[in-house]
Amino acid sequence: MTDRKTELAKNLAKVEERITAACAAAGRERAEVTLIVVTKTYPASDVRILSELGVRHVAENRDQDAAPKAAACADLPLTWHFVGQLQTNKVRSVVGYAGVVQSVDRARLVTALSREAVRAEREIGCLIQVALDAGVNGRGERGGVAPDGIEELADLVGDAPGLRLDGLMTVAPLTGEYAGHEQAAFGRLMDLSTDLRRTHPTATMVSAGMSADLEQAVAAGATHVRVGTAVLGVRPKLG
Ligand SMILES: *Cc1c(COP(=O)(O)O)cnc(C)c1O
Repeated sequence: MTDRKTELAKNLAKVEERITAACAAAGRERAEVTLIVVTKTYPASDVRILSELGVRHVAENRDQDAAPKAAACADLPLTWHFVGQLQTNKVRSVVGYAGVVQSVDRARLVTALSREAVRAEREIGCLIQVALDAGVNGRGERGGVAPDGIEELADLVGDAPGLRLDGLMTVAPLTGEYAGHEQAAFGRLMDLSTDLRRTHPTATMVSAGMSADLEQAVAAGATHVRVGTAVLGVRPKLG
């Protein structure tokens, strides 16, 4: 194995151990939690190695970086998740490679995603990104909609041609009442998911938890964790 492959294999094994331990502690089956490796800022060659090591889900947050990377890896059996704030002028490009957009947070974005999904003859899975630190404008610092905006967006996605409502996503807030209380934040997301599933029973995905807090997310009931640093290493400041 190359040095990089050895390094990534070792990191992946550690993350796998953490997920397995967190599942055991929570009385959950390992199969209930899907690992998504966040490959932002890292090259297509790393994505290729991850695929060889068995990774099936990768995530990116900037279309400019993701589009060429996804094109370079088009032969690999990967599902690409888009997890960044998404401008409507990037939607056509993102729909070209993403199977799931986890950062759906406004009506205009739903309209644009639906139009491009239909045009591309693709079905795009959508997660509503929830901002648990939303300000008075009902939006989060880093994207996301306030909890009281979920239902309306979910109905829009549910009715939109080319889109499939898969569930909810959040990033643990750095400000507000949940700052420093990841477990409580993820617990709140689970409650919101339970509410959502009353009207949208197939929206079962709960995407929460990153390198630093995946245990808390698994404990709360997350179905998907998004792990970057713990697999690929510390990113240069961007990203
Ligand atoms: C970068 C990123 C992650 C991964 O974060 P790490 O701390 O590197 O594991 C997860 N989710 C989103 C939305 C991200 O932008």
